[in-house]
Amino acid sequence: MTRMEPQPGIMDIALYVGGASQIAGVSDVVKLSSNENPFGPSPAAIAAVERSARTLHRYPSTDHASLRAALAEVHGLDAARIICGVGSDEIIHFLCQAYAGPGDEVLYTQHGFAMYRISAMAAGATPVEVAERDRTVHVDAILAACTEHTRLVFIANPANPTGTFIQLGEVERLAEGLPEQCLLVLDGAYAEFEEGYDGGAALIEHRDNVVMTRTFSKLYGLGGLRVGWGYASRDIIDVLNRVRGPFNLSSTALEAAEAALGDHAYVEKCLAENAKMRSWLTEALRGLGIGVDDSHANFVLARFSDPAEADACEAHLKTQGLIVRKVAGYKLPEALRITVGDESACRRVVHAIGQFKAVAE
Ligand SMILES: *Cc1c(COP(=O)(O)O)cnc(C)c1O
Repeated sequence: MTRMEPQPGIMDIALYVGGASQIAGVSDVVKLSSNENPFGPSPAAIAAVERSARTLHRYPSTDHASLRAALAEVHGLDAARIICGVGSDEIIHFLCQAYAGPGDEVLYTQHGFAMYRISAMAAGATPVEVAERDRTVHVDAILAACTEHTRLVFIANPANPTGTFIQLGEVERLAEGLPEQCLLVLDGAYAEFEEGYDGGAALIEHRDNVVMTRTFSKLYGLGGLRVGWGYASRDIIDVLNRVRGPFNLSSTALEAAEAALGDHAYVEKCLAENAKMRSWLTEALRGLGIGVDDSHANFVLARFSDPAEADACEAHLKTQGLIVRKVAGYKLPEALRITVGDESACRRVVHAIGQFKAVAE
């Protein structure tokens, strides 16, 4: 007998590193490292969580019919083409498991989200990274990188950690140009933050090679509960449901997500605050001489003159109780990703970076 060994490639997967949440010896800490909603979950979602406690002896729904119907209603979609997952991470995982294996290639872009690579490798497939242009997804570069082995192409739009966005026409050109055996996955974790953008849902109505993923973790403030969903052709949803565990979402998660979805006033308030503070933060950072692209999400990417300055600024922010995200792992060592917090958090960040810049000069 040989020793028990995992499948080839599993031990080559670099573990996902989440945003830090504590600083030793510093109180009044603000976490701006994971793009969470600074206002927390909707009160309606909190009430649903409390209510759900009384029926926890029951197994949850296996088909998520109630949440899917609510999603279909709010977004004007076909409920039969929705699948729910333990965060959109799980949908990404299902896609890799179902559509990619040894010898297949999974494409994502230079600064793309870490889970694409992790899930591709977990499925035994070959991850392929494609260059971006000015921190933005470059459609022609992706099309040029496709081969007969390419099975999945992942792009986040708006993208993380860059916050950039490509127009729907570009997305459609990408979908149109992909090889026949290849699926395009539009990760819409931040879709709600781009006004008027449907995450690509309308595109999916007439294309069977596009999948959209969405989440309750960002705008809806439910990252801790783990609820995401996907939208695609019925055939693809039928495939994904075969690799999904029957009870993947808890009853608490299902009920809270549905309640959050129904609290339109809360969602509108969060969106308005984000838009207001995002432009304020962007302008204030630019005023301090820091490079900031226009963000289409709930964070900004602050670019310093070099990696050493970014690291030093991150260290200074930490002493001020402000946790932001280093993104060297996303090939942006000179940058820091800062979640748009509430007004007081944004003011603290700008004040602290102003201090840092003043001392540096
Ligand atoms: C946060 C994020 C997700 C969402 O992950 P969940 O599993 O739904 O919490 C997906 N994609 C990107 C690009 C993200 O930033």
